[in-house]
Amino acid sequence: MQYTTSQSLFERAGHTIPGGVNSPVRAFKAVGGTPVFLKSAEGPYVYDVDGNQYIELINSWGPMILGHAHPLIVEAVQHAATDSLSFGAPTRREIEMAELITQMVPSVEKVRMVNSGTEATMSAVRVARGYTGRDKIIKFAGCYHGHGDSFLIAAGSGAVTFGTPDSPGVTKGVAQDTLTAPYNDLAAVEELVAANPDQIAAIIIEPVAGNMGCIVPSSEFLTGLRRVCDAHGIVLIFDEVMTGFRLAPGGAQTVLGVTPDLTTLGKIIGGGMPVGAYGGKKEIMDFVAPAGPVYQAGTLSGNPVAMAAGLTMLTYLHEHPEVYTRLETVGKTLTDGLRQGLDKLGLRYTINQIGSMYTLFFTDQPVYDFETARQSDLMAFGRYFHAMLSRGVYLAPSQFESLFLSTALTDELIDRIIEAHQDALEEIMA
Ligand code: PLP
Repeated sequence: MQYTTSQSLFERAGHTIPGGVNSPVRAFKAVGGTPVFLKSAEGPYVYDVDGNQYIELINSWGPMILGHAHPLIVEAVQHAATDSLSFGAPTRREIEMAELITQMVPSVEKVRMVNSGTEATMSAVRVARGYTGRDKIIKFAGCYHGHGDSFLIAAGSGAVTFGTPDSPGVTKGVAQDTLTAPYNDLAAVEELVAANPDQIAAIIIEPVAGNMGCIVPSSEFLTGLRRVCDAHGIVLIFDEVMTGFRLAPGGAQTVLGVTPDLTTLGKIIGGGMPVGAYGGKKEIMDFVAPAGPVYQAGTLSGNPVAMAAGLTMLTYLHEHPEVYTRLETVGKTLTDGLRQGLDKLGLRYTINQIGSMYTLFFTDQPVYDFETARQSDLMAFGRYFHAMLSRGVYLAPSQFESLFLSTALTDELIDRIIEAHQDALEEIMA
């Protein structure tokens, strides 16, 4: 494959954009080489500026669950845009959106729309603090909740990829209010809670982690967190920015059977437009201004075009539950095929998969937290990534990410990915 136009654009971008990209992981730093500049996409394919076609398994880091440029969503956006690109005033569509979300995610009784997952998590923690009158939060090492200061402590995703989980610019004051525990380690959480009596406002967690690669929690862990929160008046926040509307219409919480107090949403909820949301128990959400004293606002929040895209996406998912059956099959068939390829070569790696999320970790040990994820052979991952890219399969350019599958993947495309995987493994092992 030729990447000359991407290479020259990346060189040009570096002069005016920090690192040449608008979000760090896009820069390919973890895998080496030049990022591919994309031009268009349709269904399961993306096309770069050099004319290369890829089957892609990132799907804009989650939102494109129905594949790219779904006609219903594109049409909804075009139609809404002719009415107005922004009002900054209430609209009927925002109510429809809130009603649909509260219907699909039963633990969400009231919801506030924002513009990104980062805004959703920052705001959810603020309201949890306002509601409890406490300052500290607990998060889990390797979980990523956006780039709010409180979360850039032992963070996953791009932060771990660049080895700067504790970002400069986050003050000591903020950092000391964020306590961290290993994922899947209930005893560590109980110790933190005991050591900080009546000081913990919230525990925030990805109920299925995607930002240290895909990790599914043990059911005792999540039910244990619920119990600890109930016993100590702590607000349990599930960050379902990745998993919301992806693992089920009601998110990971309905799959895993544990109900949080607050939920943060993003990605799919905007159908590809910049949207986030946070919601949960009425009693807590009524602390949000103007109903209550906790301030949170946004010029573009509930933007009419973004609401049209999101509402069309969620309505489709609500009316087509077969999407989730298909995605389960796609996830299973693909990862079974990948495992067979590994077995054929006598390689022992770890694949974690749930529904349409999966990660192939280049380690033969089980991966259940940040430390075990970090045992992966990152050089081998980088070689595999490029071997797949050159075969027309575009994976997330970091070991510490989940892949996201879409309904646009046909059985024939799954076979093509498995074939590429087999060839790629043979190449990198040679
Ligand atoms: N929370 C989780 C679980 C995420 O995966 C992400 C982004 O990947 C965020 C929050 C932040 O969302 P955004 O990038 O829309 O700000």
